[in-house]
Formats: sequence, structure tokens, C-alpha cells
Amino acid sequence: MSEKDDNPQMDDLQKQLQNLFKQGPGNPRVTFAMPGQGMPEQEEPSDEQKAKDEEVLRRIRDFNLKPKDIRDHLNRYVIRQDEAKKVLSVAICDHYNHVRRCLEKPKLLEREYSKQNILLLGPTGVGKTYLMRNIAKMIGVPFVKADATKFSETGYVGNDVEDLVRDLVKAANGNIELAQYGIVYIDEIDKIAGGEGVGKDVSGRGVQINLLKLMEDTEVSLFAPNDIMGQMQAMMRGGKNKKETINTRHVLFIVSGAFDKLAESVKKRVGNAAIGFANAPSGDEDEDNNRYLAQASTADFIKYGFEPEFIGRVPVRVACESLSEGDLAKILTSSEGSLLRQYRSDFQGYGIEFDITPEAITEISHRAHGEKTGARGLMTVLERIFRDFKFELPSTAIKSFEVTTETVANPEETLTHLVVENKHLMDSVWKEDLESFAKSFESEHGIRLKFTDDAADVLIEVATESDKTLRTICEDRFKDFQHGLKIIQRNIDKDTFEIDADVAKEPDKQLSAWVVASFKEAEQRQTEEPPTE
Ligand code: ADP
Repeated sequence: MSEKDDNPQMDDLQKQLQNLFKQGPGNPRVTFAMPGQGMPEQEEPSDEQKAKDEEVLRRIRDFNLKPKDIRDHLNRYVIRQDEAKKVLSVAICDHYNHVRRCLEKPKLLEREYSKQNILLLGPTGVGKTYLMRNIAKMIGVPFVKADATKFSETGYVGNDVEDLVRDLVKAANGNIELAQYGIVYIDEIDKIAGGEGVGKDVSGRGVQINLLKLMEDTEVSLFAPNDIMGQMQAMMRGGKNKKETINTRHVLFIVSGAFDKLAESVKKRVGNAAIGFANAPSGDEDEDNNRYLAQASTADFIKYGFEPEFIGRVPVRVACESLSEGDLAKILTSSEGSLLRQYRSDFQGYGIEFDITPEAITEISHRAHGEKTGARGLMTVLERIFRDFKFELPSTAIKSFEVTTETVANPEETLTHLVVENKHLMDSVWKEDLESFAKSFESEHGIRLKFTDDAADVLIEVATESDKTLRTICEDRFKDFQHGLKIIQRNIDKDTFEIDADVAKEPDKQLSAWVVASFKEAEQRQTEEPPTE
């Protein structure tokens, strides 16, 4: 191994340095980072992108959405989670209304305002991230997501929480102003609690303190502490006229987690306090957990291991419900972002349509529910059903198919059956393939190949047996033909050749015979021609 390979970071640093010196201090958009940290080089956004960003900023300055506008938008994509939709819509409107008013009257900034940072509780795959992504998209603000577990207290070993804010700048195409109104989503926040039942996690507490600072009004440098290149470049520019920090005053923070152990502890508390109808077990574990999570108080979170100041900075708390089989079916059939729609459009790319029976939808939802990963289970099940269909069908003449419970249960057998049933349609596909090979041969070499029906039969049989396309078979069988046929063309001036079954079976043997015959014919022509004086 060379010295260079030994230290890829140094190698990268060297490249960055060379780049930096090439670019000079003239390009304010170029930034440099150690691999995996800070900001990578940011390309100058297109004029179109700049206009879009400007439009988003204008919308923030004139923010006028009402909570119900946001709720209605979410309803198009997200099934259930009515309480979360309501709470989030209000929090988002409060937040961006406050931003608008601060921009109108900067004096407002000096007043105490408690930012609407949000804590989303609930099991995996029920739409927590999806809700927030849809909100960010609707408003147009940058959105970044990370897992709390990847941060370390110091940032030297793991990632630095400030990287999140720098990532917002990347997501905003380098537009710092826009980044300052972005949304940061931190998942698995329950894993950095240090209280009972979770174990004393000192580093988790440290990360909480660091996050706390970010959630307040902090200036974050555009460059990570170990982004030497970025800092050097900033120095070379002299730091003039260009903002080198991002302010987090208006960045909205969402933290989320499953908090399964918290439900237990709330259950103990409320169970002891009041054993009433509202808290009677429903018989459905998921439903009970959801109900207890919805009742979690600040004290419960502190007991769970959160710093009181940290939990105080996330005043908006809402629990998302787990999804039933019926909900999963609805996601498939009525969510605008449904995966099924995506599969449909993927198949339409090849001119293929499919129908799905209501029974198949029920079966898919049933299987997906069994995965216990919320709506993510749908991805697993659909991928298993469609994987081979996506690979095989585009090379067949099949333009439509139906997904039934049989397809869901045995996708491979159903596919084989479908292909065999439609074999008679393949003739036209094979003919097109053969014609397209002959056409590209002619345009490349100026020689026309005419395949007889018998030759086509031979080639189709080889293609079917070897599970290759006809084009691949032809390219392989006739790979030497361009050279041989060119010799013949020179000898006897022939430019159309008939490929019959014999040629298709033994192409090289026939080609040699043709070449030899062409030399003989050329010789004969010469002797027959009267000598020219
Ligand atoms: P989590 O709750 O773990 O953050 P996600 O929001 O990332 O889960 O959900 C994963 C995917 O599942 C989403 O991208 C979306 O396609 C789908 N999904 C999850 N919940 C819902 C829902 N309630 N309605 C519609 N689609 C959903």
C-alpha cells in the first residue's frame, strides 16, 4: 500500500488545498471540508434555483397560511395522525407568523418568545418524519434529518450537533438566509436520555446540553472546527461582506422517538393515580401505549432522563398513533404519496399498466402489518411482489397484468405463468428485436442483413434457452460478420446478405465459406472481363 493510500484524509486535504489555491479567494461560494464533516463544495445555484429560493423567502416574509391549510395539505398524503396534524399545523403557523412579525418589526426579537420546537412520540414508520417533510415541502424551507445517536458530546468522535445547522445551508443550496428558517429533525431522541431504565448515559446528557444551545439563539459557524480549508478560505476573504455564521433563532427543531419505555412509566403513574374508564386496558397493546404516551408530562420526561432545560425547550408534544391493517390499506389506495402510485408510474415507464384487486390490497396490508414497522412494512411486501415483475416484464410483450392474492402469495410462480401464457405475443417482440439489430448493423457498417423466418426461429430458441435477449444473442453470434462481410463487399460488391437457418446455426463456418467463395468469384470475374487496353 502506498503512503498516499495510508492516509486518505491527508490526501483529500491536499487536493482541497490545491483546489483552493487554483480558485483563489475570488469565489465566495466555494467551501472545503474534511471528509464527512462540515460543508462540501457548493455549486453556484442556477438562476432558476435562485428565483425559487427568493420566492420561498418572500412567502416567509408574507407568511399567511392558516392551521387548517396545513392540515388539509397533510390530509392528502398522511393517513390518520389527526391529533398530530392539528398540533403541528398550529405550531408551524405560530412559528412562521412569529418569524414574519420579527422581520416586520425587529424590536419584537428582544421580547421573550418561546419557540414552538416539537417533540413527536410514537412507533417507527407511522408518519412522524413524513408529516414534517410534507410541511417543509409545502412551505419550501430546507429540511434536514439525523439520528441523535450519531452525535457525541465533544463532536470529535462522533458528529457535532452544529453540523445539523450547516447541513441546512447545504439543503438551502448555500442560501444562508433561507437556511435560517429551516427545519431540523432529530430522531431517536429517546436513546440519549440518561435516566432510569435507560442507564446513566453521561454523553447523552452532554448532547442534550449541546442541542439546547442550538435550540436557543446561537450563531453557528459555517465551518466545522476541523474544517481547516473552510476557515483558511474565510480568512483569505478577510471575512468582509459575507456572513460566515448561521443564526438558529428561527430554526425550528423537531425531536422524535418511539419512547416505548416511557409508556410503561406513565402507565405506572396514571394507573396509581386514577384507575378509571379512560385508563382501562383496551386489549390492544399498541393502542394502550399510544394512550399513555399522549399523557406523558414534563415530569415523566425528566424522570426518563431528559435535562429539565432540554425538555422545557420542546413545548409542543404530540403522540402519533400506530397504524392498523385498515390504515395501511388506505395508505396504499388513497395517499397521494402512496408507494403503489410509484410502482404504477415505474411500470408506465415501459408502457405497462396493472390492476390490483381489493383482496390483494387487504392481503398486502395484512402482511405489512405483520412486519411491525408501520407503513415501512408496505415497502418490504411490495418490493417482494414486484421485484421480478419489474425485471422480466419490460422485455416481454405484456402490457397489462393483474395483482391478485395469488400474486401476493406466490409472486414468482404467478410471473412465470403470466409469461408462459403470453408467449404467443412474443413473436412481435422478437421480430422487433431482430429488426432493430439489423438496422443498427446497417447504419454502423453499411451492410444489410436479412433474416429468414427459419433463422429467426433458431435464434429465438437460443435466446429462450439461455435467458438472454435476442439482441445479445445476435451481437455474440455475428460479432465477426462486419469484418468478413466487408471483405466480401470489397471482392464482389455485395451489400445485402440473407441469414438463413444454417447461417444462424453455424455463423462462423458459413461466413468463412462465403469469404472463400467471394475470392473465387472475384478471380473468375477478372478472367472473364475482357482486358482493357
Ligand atoms: P417515522 O414515523 O418512523 O418517522 P416515516 O414518516 O419515515 O416514519 O414513514 C416511512 C414512510 O412510510 C413514509 O415515507 C411514508 O411513505 C409512509 N408512511 C408512514 N406513515 C404514513 C401515514 N400515516 N400515511 C401515509 N404514509 C405513511
